[in-house]
Amino acid sequence: MKIKTDQYAETARRELGNPNSRVFLNLLPAFLSVMRQAAMQSFPDPAAAHAMGGVIRAEALDRLPELLEQFERNATAAGTKVFWAWDGHAANGYILDLALKHGIGYVTKGKSMITEEIGLNDLLEENGIEVWETDLGEFIAQLLGRPPFHIVGPAVNVPVEEIRDLFMDRIGLEKPTTDPVELGLAARNFLRDKFHHMEMGITGVNMAVAETGTIINVENEGNIRFNKSSPRIQVSVMSLEKVVPTMMEAMHLLRLLCRNCTGQELGAYVSLDTGPKNPDEIDGPEELHVIILDNGRTRLYQDPNLREILRCMRCGGCLNVCPIYRRIGGYPYGWAYSGPMGQILNPLLLGLDRTRDLVQSCTLCHACRDACMTGIDHPGLLLYLRSKAAEGDPDLGASPESWPIAWFFKAFAHAAANPVLWRTTVRLVRSLFNRTAREGRVTKAPGPLAAWLESRDFPAMPEKTFHERWADLERKG
Ligand code: SF4
Repeated sequence: MKIKTDQYAETARRELGNPNSRVFLNLLPAFLSVMRQAAMQSFPDPAAAHAMGGVIRAEALDRLPELLEQFERNATAAGTKVFWAWDGHAANGYILDLALKHGIGYVTKGKSMITEEIGLNDLLEENGIEVWETDLGEFIAQLLGRPPFHIVGPAVNVPVEEIRDLFMDRIGLEKPTTDPVELGLAARNFLRDKFHHMEMGITGVNMAVAETGTIINVENEGNIRFNKSSPRIQVSVMSLEKVVPTMMEAMHLLRLLCRNCTGQELGAYVSLDTGPKNPDEIDGPEELHVIILDNGRTRLYQDPNLREILRCMRCGGCLNVCPIYRRIGGYPYGWAYSGPMGQILNPLLLGLDRTRDLVQSCTLCHACRDACMTGIDHPGLLLYLRSKAAEGDPDLGASPESWPIAWFFKAFAHAAANPVLWRTTVRLVRSLFNRTAREGRVTKAPGPLAAWLESRDFPAMPEKTFHERWADLERKG
C-alpha cells in the first residue's frame, strides 16, 4: 500500500464532495455506534465490563516482555514456529523465503491491518507470488487498488454498479447484475477455487494468549478460518502488543471487542489455534508460523506517555463516534490505520513530519475516549503529539516548526502573559478583523486564516471583551 498520509487535506476535501462516501458515512458509523451501545447493555454491569477491558490491557502492557516470552515458550511447545521480526523488512523477508522455499505460487489472506502496515502484498507480488484477499470487502478494495474505507466495511462505499463492472472485468462475472447476492456468489466461487488449491494462508492475530500459546481470530465471513485450516502452511502475523496473560482475560476482551466493533455479542467465527494440526486431526496446517512484529513498537513502549496506544484492539469503536471520521471516511488517513487510533498510530509509526495534518485534525471532543473498549485517552495523546510536533523531536520524526509559526506562537504566548499588551493586541485584531464583516459574519481573511474560512465563517468579534464588559458593570454598580 502506498503511503499517502501527506495528502490528508487534499483527500479529505475530495471525500467531502463524494456522494457515495456521504451516503455510507451518514449511515454506517451511526448504526454501528447504536448497535454498540445496545450490545454493551447485555453485560450485567456495562461500566465495570468496560473498565475491565482497560485494566486487562494495561496489565498486559506492564508485563509485556515477560508475557511475550511466555507466549513463545508455550506456542513453541505446541509445535508453532515463532519468529521475532524487528521490522517489516524482517517479517516480509521471512514470509517470502518460506513461500519460495515451498514453491508457493499464490497465497490467500484474511483481513489484517498489520500486513498492510508492512506492505506484504507488494513484496510478494513483486516476487511473482499472487496474493488474494479473501474478506469480501478487502477483496473488492484490493481489486480496486484502494485502501480500506472502514475497518468493518473496507469497500462499503463502492457503488454496486462499480462492483458489477469490476467483477466482469477481473473475475469473469458473465451476466451483468447488480444483485448483491449474485455478486457475493461470484466472489465466493472465485475465492473458493483459490481456497481449494491453496498451499499457504496468511492472517493477522486478534489476540495471543501467553498462558497457552494460543492465537485467536474473530470474524464474520469464515474466510479467516479457511485460511487457517485449509493450507499446508499457515502464517499469522501479530504486532507484539497483542499478547494477553490468560485465556479468561482473552475471553473478556473478546466479548468487548465484538460488542464494540459490530454490536454483536460474539462474532460468527472465533478460531483458537494452539500449534499446527496433530497427526490424527483432519483440519489445520502442517506448519504454523507466528511472526511477532515490533516495527517501532518497542520505541513507543519506552515512552510512558505513548505506551497507552498499544492497548488498542482495533475494534473500530473510536472511528464510529469520531465527528471527523464521520465526515471524511477512511481514505484521507492514507495508510493502514484510520480514525482516532490511526491519527495516533500512523504518526508514531511513520514519523510526525509525514503526518502533521493527522495530529492536528481533531476537535478534542473526547467521544473516542468514551467509546474506547480499552480506555485509551486519544485527545490526551494527540495533545502530547502536537507538543512534540511543535518542539521537534528526532525520535518521533518531528522537525521543529518553521520559524514564522514558531515566532507567531512565541509572540502569542508573550502577549497572553502581559495584560496591557494583550488588551492592545485584542483591540488591534478586532478592528482589523471586523472591518471585513458583513451582517455580523466574517467570510474572508488574509494569509493563513484564509483556509479556515473556506468552508465556514466566523461571527464578528464582540465590541467588548468579557473583561471590558465586567469593568463596565462594576462601574455602573
Ligand atoms: S483505540 Fe479505537 S480501535 Fe483501538 S481499542 Fe480503542 S476504540 Fe477500539
